[in-house]
Amino acid sequence: MPEAVIRIENVTKVYGTGEAAAAALSGISLDVERGAWLAIMGPSGHGKSTLLQIMGGLDQPTSGQVHLDGTELTRLRPAELAHTRARSIGFVFQSFNLLSHLTALENIELALWFGGKGDDRARGMALLESVGLAGKAHLPPGALSGGQQQRVAVARALANDPDILLMDEPTGNLDSASEAELLSLLSSLHGQGRTIVMVTHNPAVAERAQRVVHVKDGRIDKERFNGA
Ligand code: ADP
Ligand code: MG
Repeated sequence: MPEAVIRIENVTKVYGTGEAAAAALSGISLDVERGAWLAIMGPSGHGKSTLLQIMGGLDQPTSGQVHLDGTELTRLRPAELAHTRARSIGFVFQSFNLLSHLTALENIELALWFGGKGDDRARGMALLESVGLAGKAHLPPGALSGGQQQRVAVARALANDPDILLMDEPTGNLDSASEAELLSLLSSLHGQGRTIVMVTHNPAVAERAQRVVHVKDGRIDKERFNGA
């Protein structure tokens, strides 16, 4: 049996309380093997982003368990969780979450600093270069297009050389040339043994993954293995 690097067991997530309580996840279980490339698809509002955030320890399940590399995330203290996250996970948010008062380069340097690798300007520049944005290093996110901000977010996610990349619609704002470049970057990261989980609405993007899971009403509705 290949090892599961991420194990989601019977996870529920309820937002709100009382009459306003609504389940975003309704008892979902999912194993992601080390080195897998998984795509998550499904209609809007059915729990894809919630699932990804819980996988990355950015949100807590209401019930159920989340294991990352064999460690149960809900048992970790906040500082341990933050450390684990910074070391092994790169996250690309659906809305980028770049800090608007920092430049593109500083956004990446901050992530390098959190990862404990020091504020390495050369590495920050190399990361921006890898997403084709070296020339925009000194601009704040507000001066960049949506697609450029998305690429900065991808570069930031790669800052600490994470084993696991969790990406929420990482190609959602890209033109087709940038999308092709990002997919080839992801292919090479996957080829180096990294685990990739990406939410996408784009069937052509999902096609690049090995496995596609469809989420509906906070549960796995169906899944398929590409090329199998
Ligand atoms: P998807 O990514 O598939 O579009 P989400 O995981 O973002 O879906 O959302 C699933 C459901 O949970 C939606 O009904 C959404 O409104 C709700 N939801 C998500 N985040 C929150 C939150 N922070 N507070 C309250 N409800 C939320
Ligand atoms: Mg979403």
